[in-house]
Amino acid sequence: MRSRLQLSLPFAPVPAPEQGSAPAAPPVSKTRLLVDAIQSFMPGCRVLIVDNRSVLLSQSDRDGTRVVRAHQMFLDADVDTRRAVAVYLASGSKKAGAVVDDFVRRRSHLLAFSARPLKHDAHRGRVHDLGPVFATINGAYFDDVIRAEIGWGQAGVPSGKARSRRSITFGSYDHRARRITIHPVLDALHVPVVVVGRIVHHEMLHAKLGEGRTASGRREVHSRQFRVEEATYEGAREADAWIDAHLDELLRWRR
Ligand SMILES: [Zn+2]
Repeated sequence: MRSRLQLSLPFAPVPAPEQGSAPAAPPVSKTRLLVDAIQSFMPGCRVLIVDNRSVLLSQSDRDGTRVVRAHQMFLDADVDTRRAVAVYLASGSKKAGAVVDDFVRRRSHLLAFSARPLKHDAHRGRVHDLGPVFATINGAYFDDVIRAEIGWGQAGVPSGKARSRRSITFGSYDHRARRITIHPVLDALHVPVVVVGRIVHHEMLHAKLGEGRTASGRREVHSRQFRVEEATYEGAREADAWIDAHLDELLRWRR
């Protein structure tokens, strides 16, 4: 029997509202999971999730308190990688560091280095041209007001024994660079344009809605409003079903 691979989509389906039942306990947040993992190896430390392109993991002492900064990309880490992050921070273990490196490498296409402008034809893939996809969605859903760069990302090279990934992030939005990056796994003949559009639409919503905060000041990536607007994309269900049906091959993808 084959165990089901879990895909960490940059979005999740909008849950159907439950009727007549008490609200379910909220799922443990990705932030909580990462903070707990780090604190289990470094009791009493403060963990800050940052979106800083120059340093992905760092630590310092502030008034006797250890302060750890972790790039928000680690929020998508699986349990083994979270543990490796914690062990690496706590001990500097080379073995744990290699696991962290591998995770970062697999996501390097998401670290669009803001200083470098996109190549003019970065939107043009071998199969799909993100330019028209962006323009069509901008007109249909955003009154043509979204201004952002868009391009295909560079795929991280899976290293050594890593034959397949356990998760894949199809798109990202860099608020500072105002840049949407789409994973090159979607630039293929068999990938329906509605799937590409679905991901582009999601990232454009990030551009529209900005980085939200909850009333308590917590960073909120996908607000309720985000999910509601996301669900208005025509073909969202179809695209999600396609992604779900092709998960294994997407995870096995190599350039
Ligand atoms: Zn998102």
